[in-house]
Amino acid sequence: MLLKKMTRIRLPKARTRKAEVEELRARNAELEAANRRMTALYEQISEELEQTNQGVVALYAELEDRTARLHEANEAKTRFLANVSHELRAPATSILGLCRMLIDPPTGHPALGEPLDPERRHQVELIRTSGRDLLTLVNDLLDLAKAESGRMEPNLTEVDVRAVFGRLTGLLRPMVRDGVELAVEDPGAAGHLFTDEVMLTRVLRNLLTNGLKFTERGEVRLSAREEDGEVVLSVADTGIGIAADQLDKIFEEFYQVRGPLQAEVTGTGLGLPYARRLVRILGGTMSVRSTAGRGTTFEVRLPRPKVGRALIVDDDAAFRLVLLDLVKGVADTVEQAADGQEGLEAMRRSRPDVVFLDMRMPAMGGARVLEAMHDDDLLREIPVVVVTSAEVGLPPGGAVAVLQKSALSRTELLRVIGACRR
Ligand code: ADP
Repeated sequence: MLLKKMTRIRLPKARTRKAEVEELRARNAELEAANRRMTALYEQISEELEQTNQGVVALYAELEDRTARLHEANEAKTRFLANVSHELRAPATSILGLCRMLIDPPTGHPALGEPLDPERRHQVELIRTSGRDLLTLVNDLLDLAKAESGRMEPNLTEVDVRAVFGRLTGLLRPMVRDGVELAVEDPGAAGHLFTDEVMLTRVLRNLLTNGLKFTERGEVRLSAREEDGEVVLSVADTGIGIAADQLDKIFEEFYQVRGPLQAEVTGTGLGLPYARRLVRILGGTMSVRSTAGRGTTFEVRLPRPKVGRALIVDDDAAFRLVLLDLVKGVADTVEQAADGQEGLEAMRRSRPDVVFLDMRMPAMGGARVLEAMHDDDLLREIPVVVVTSAEVGLPPGGAVAVLQKSALSRTELLRVIGACRR
């Protein structure tokens, strides 16, 4: 009975196995075929990828080449602007001087003869107005060329924003037309800034002048606020606004939006590119938003970098001195350490607000210092600026910014300290 049962069971099983084997074979063949197709596809894709890669590399090289050429062209333009405006300044100044003498002749000057009759006087005054416009243009060009040359370094001091606002209001009051209010808000918590006062004043004066020029009714409002450790200065007007497709262009040299009000007011189209350049020198950014017919708001975002204690960790004594000189401008006290171990000890001792850390040091390199800081509850939160001669991005391990040794400047310092504050 049992045997019978087993036989009965076995027979179908044997058949099933055979079928299974067949099926498996078939599947295997299918799989192999699929595999071959996949391999072929893979090879094809690899080849295409390789070709694309080569294309990207070539494109990249071309892009670099174009960037370099653009850079050269830009430098040539800056040199040209600087030279031409220098040459134009002297004759423009002479014209103005001569006009003044003709309109108001110095008494007892025989060569100038009688005072001018009213018609002639009017004509000479027109010459003088044109001469002044010319001189303004030439001066604006010179300023821009200077700012673009990269040779302009900010002179950093503690700036009283409230006082700057006060002086600007006094200066611009005569420009305010009827029906427009120049509103100045108290800067409150954003009242102190560590920056270049002259540059800041130039930027705000430019923006306010534009606001007043392009606003026929309503107000031009100057305000400051603190945001993410930065100071945001805002100049908002209820004027004619700027169409969306023109918003980028207004930062180009000589660009002026065409329109009836624009035709009435004077300008060179150099104010905004200059202002934006200055803001960059101050380590900040400038943005604009506008609605045609409703008004325009310019915002200047500036880092507010003044730190208490800074620590420089670098084995190169000469470089430490260079950096020390620069950092002194933005920190109350600056300590130095000649290697990683000494740096860590200094950190534990005096808890600096920011550390400038060299990466390549003989005994203990920057990467290990970062690791040790990460493992230490007391040191983990100290912001680190990596200072390096290699052209690298942010290394892993908690640094907040990179300072390139080859591109050390106050502007760069402002930028990285601004990053530490965020
Ligand atoms: P300028 O004022 O000397 O013409 P700018 O570079 O300062 O040169 O400004 C460029 C152009 O941007 C202006 O001619 C104007 O068309 C536009 N613009 C600037 N500010 C404003 C504003 N607040 N409202 C409307 N348009 C503006």
